[in-house]
Amino acid sequence: MIQEYQLRILPEQAASEQSITSYLIQEEGFNKKDITAIRILKRSIDARQRTIYVNIKVRVYLNEMPKDDEYQRVDYKNVEGKPQAIIVGAGPAGLFAALRLIELGIRPIIVERGKNVHDRRKDIALISREHTINPESNYSFGEGGAGAFSDGKLYTRSKKRGNVEKILNVFCQHGASTNILIDAHPHLGTDKLPRVIENMRNTILQCGGEIHFETRMDRLIIQKQKVEGIETNTGKTFLGPVILATGHSARDVYQWLYHNDVFIEPKAIAVGVRLEHPSELIDRIQYHNKEGRGKYLPAAEYSFVTQVDGRGVYSFCMCPGGFVVPAASQPEQVVVNGMSPSNRGSKWSNSGMVVEVHPEDVAEVTGALTMMKFQHEIERQSWLQGGMKQTAPAQRMVDFTRKKLSFDLPDSSYSPGLVSSPLHFWMPEFITKRLSTAFTQFGRSAHGFLTNEALMIGVESRTSSPVRITRDKETLQHINISGLFPCGEGAGYAGGIVSAAIDGERCAESLSHGLQ
Ligand SMILES: Cc1cc2nc3c(=O)[nH]c(=O)nc-3n(C[C@H](O)[C@H](O)[C@H](O)COP(=O)(O)OP(=O)(O)OC[C@H]3O[C@@H](n4cnc5c(N)ncnc54)[C@H](O)[C@@H]3O)c2cc1C
Repeated sequence: MIQEYQLRILPEQAASEQSITSYLIQEEGFNKKDITAIRILKRSIDARQRTIYVNIKVRVYLNEMPKDDEYQRVDYKNVEGKPQAIIVGAGPAGLFAALRLIELGIRPIIVERGKNVHDRRKDIALISREHTINPESNYSFGEGGAGAFSDGKLYTRSKKRGNVEKILNVFCQHGASTNILIDAHPHLGTDKLPRVIENMRNTILQCGGEIHFETRMDRLIIQKQKVEGIETNTGKTFLGPVILATGHSARDVYQWLYHNDVFIEPKAIAVGVRLEHPSELIDRIQYHNKEGRGKYLPAAEYSFVTQVDGRGVYSFCMCPGGFVVPAASQPEQVVVNGMSPSNRGSKWSNSGMVVEVHPEDVAEVTGALTMMKFQHEIERQSWLQGGMKQTAPAQRMVDFTRKKLSFDLPDSSYSPGLVSSPLHFWMPEFITKRLSTAFTQFGRSAHGFLTNEALMIGVESRTSSPVRITRDKETLQHINISGLFPCGEGAGYAGGIVSAAIDGERCAESLSHGLQ
């Protein structure tokens, strides 16, 4: 027999399958010898009150064993000899597009400017050690895309549960923990992501797809408003319809599109800083307990949002127990972002704290590349202020609100190092004024959050694409160029790993209609 229960229990009671089973025996009157297995179906933490509860939906198997798998598998078939399609970019959008094409009987050929996820690690290590940025292999470029070395948060605002579940199941099939199907806020962690990405690559190759690393698309081949294929920096040409999933950091791609009359438009972005607190402090605030999170709770998350003078100010991509990382994709830029290991066990918790910026905020006459140029300028300014290396400009949080240079800086997870800098002075006023007001509000709602123990690190500028590569709503093809499917975050149609993956699948489906 199978029974399902909704439990509201204490963290220590929810800590393991064993402790949940003990709870069921003691509190729900089950006989120990009848319970053959339990399976957790959903799990969330309710930290709104002083006593923290874990809400769990659990399936109890009585005198029988589970028969179904913990996740749904996709049957990937061999696509050798089938019609082919080109995917530019092996980020989540590109990889999920490729896997979906295989499901639909189309042979994907992926072209990726960066290295495979293993070799990419070495270039990433050099950023902190030697302050060098390889423009083809960094936190943004390479197999797995921008999400490969991240917190691996897998939640999204997408309302279509079916699409989200499909993506999470594909991750599980490729080695992700099935906890991602259970947790309200699932995440993988930077230590687990590369193996999952390698497994996806293996599926694509075993099914007859191709992946070309260190191969950059330099030009689309367009004839009579139709894409025929791409030319690359290695001299190789690939022919077929193109899913363009190049992410929001491929500025050369936007420039090429702009100069070759492929219609693109400017898009609002959000810009600010990474804010870093000691994780113990965030735990104390969020779990309302001066002892912190204790043995059974994970590093605490937070989310803040407000409006200041007509623009949203909000926390973005929060990484509990994580690290602030140097995420520039070219020399002479300082850009920060965040990542966490799967145990979220570092001493710090960070998030982007960003202000919405619209094209009219930065220029009177707005062209398609206005926001990209704005990003470029503020990232270069950050590099200049940070000492013209990957050391980043930083300021204590209260000092910033009081417009005071920080005399010294607290310890930080940002490994290239920090330079004390008056962010309030050199960052654009329409950002700093709003951030300052928002910090005061956030400090009122979460006592202790506005503190000089917290550090602001500049700049967080790659929150979304500065450009939209406009496409038709129905066919998902570029509005003027047929056979071109602008896809994922770089095209302005996704934000985050899961939504980019969903968009990859959608583009693959639309492309397949034209080939059948
Ligand atoms: C440090 C960091 C942490 C993050 N943490 C999270 C998180 O926890 N959760 C979350 O949801 N999101 C996170 N994000 C954002 C997330 O990674 C992106 O939203 C997502 O990766 C976008 O997917 P994409 O496939 O559209 O583009 P991308 O992941 O950017 O992939 C684009 C790919 O295209 C390649 N490319 C670019 N130009 C060319 C060219 N000309 N030729 C060939 N290849 C090219 C690039 O090398 C890259 O691999 C994080 C981002 C960073 C940088």
